[in-house]
Amino acid sequence: RAKEKGRNTYEVYTHSFDLLASELLDLENRLHRALERGEFMLAYQPKVNIKTGEIKGMEALVRWNHPELGLVSPAKFIPIAEETGLIMPIGEWVLKTACGQNQAWIESGLSAIPVAVNLSVRQFRQPDLVQKVAQVLEETGLDSQYLILEITETAAMLDVDFTRKLLRELEQMGVNIALDDFGTGYSSLSYLKQFPLHTLKIDRSFVKDLTEEPADIAIARAVIALGHGLDLNVVAEGVETQEQLDCLRMLDCEEIQGYFFSRPLSSEDATHLLQRMRLQQEVSI
Ligand code: C2E
Ligand code: MG
Ligand code: MG
Ligand code: MG
Repeated sequence: RAKEKGRNTYEVYTHSFDLLASELLDLENRLHRALERGEFMLAYQPKVNIKTGEIKGMEALVRWNHPELGLVSPAKFIPIAEETGLIMPIGEWVLKTACGQNQAWIESGLSAIPVAVNLSVRQFRQPDLVQKVAQVLEETGLDSQYLILEITETAAMLDVDFTRKLLRELEQMGVNIALDDFGTGYSSLSYLKQFPLHTLKIDRSFVKDLTEEPADIAIARAVIALGHGLDLNVVAEGVETQEQLDCLRMLDCEEIQGYFFSRPLSSEDATHLLQRMRLQQEVSI
């Protein structure tokens, strides 16, 4: 399926792993080997300003390039990596690779935008996360203002005291935080103001039927108002159509991410996109 879509796509096959215990063990071993053999790769999906059309950031999304299965979706293997603890080395590889890639884009004059890296619950709760992030920034030379960490609402709300403390440490380092999949977890809204957040990402489930479902419009409008009230950047995920974009524009959302503008891209294709955008800018000035 992914191949039929041709170039400029970096979509994943959606194999479902309905696993027996023995298969789970097998998969765990395979994930281990995948790390050693360099079978993981990152796709990059731009976040775009609705008004100006500028790319405001790139989100790194991990893929497993399995020798037989092809590209495996993180939705399939992240839960297993999370359960087995393999998420730690995989997550470190993702962070290092994404920061290194962004630093390369910055050095070649292609980017002055942040790269966003997703953290799972276990990564978020590892005791030395702050040191690890600091170390990767130093190793790659990336300035902390060019890194965003995306954590899910669910992860953030598990232990709000822990979250508050951790996010403040990251803020002091200059790393920005996005609250991912917002609206799908249970947020006690009063906690939101205590977290030093940079961005709220409206979950795709509210964007999907935005143009047909008055309830989804109401939710999107409320999240956007909440974000603006708290002085946060608001990004809508999973925008696939012009109609959804028009609706979000009407609701005063400032950024979108989704297939309508771009699917997740290989690093080569993301580089080409940044080059094209830079040329356009030079022409329009
Ligand atoms: P997410 O962070 O909410 O990422 C958005 C997901 O929606 C991505 O799926 C992306 O490819 C997909 N998407 C983007 N635009 C559209 C659209 O217009 N339509 C539709 N139908 N889908 C769209 P992906 O890459 O399969 O990732 C799924 C989830 O896996 C991510 O959700 C994130 O929670 C997790 N994940 C991805 N990469 C990493 C990683 O490096 N580390 C960790 N811990 N989790 C990751
Ligand atoms: Mg994300
Ligand atoms: Mg998301
Ligand atoms: Mg989501």
